[in-house]
Amino acid sequence: TYVVTENCIRCKFMDCVEVCPVDCFYEGENMLVIHPDECIDCGVCEPECPAEAILPDTEEAAEKFLELNREYSETW
Ligand code: SF4
Repeated sequence: TYVVTENCIRCKFMDCVEVCPVDCFYEGENMLVIHPDECIDCGVCEPECPAEAILPDTEEAAEKFLELNREYSETW
């Protein structure tokens, strides 16, 4: 799955949302998030993000944001 990380905070460009084929972006408290179970790992959103906030969960920087992405995508 892909994960939205801290660079997204207060950015909220919506370019990623528009390209996602399965609409798995959700709005969190101050950032967008990706629902980890709905993401099909296509990678289309990654180059679209102007803040470079979207990372594959294999990146170390993404790991600590994975649970936050899950939490926000299920609560907000
Ligand atoms: Fe959507 Fe693909 Fe990005 Fe996952 S990797 S959030 S399915 S655009």
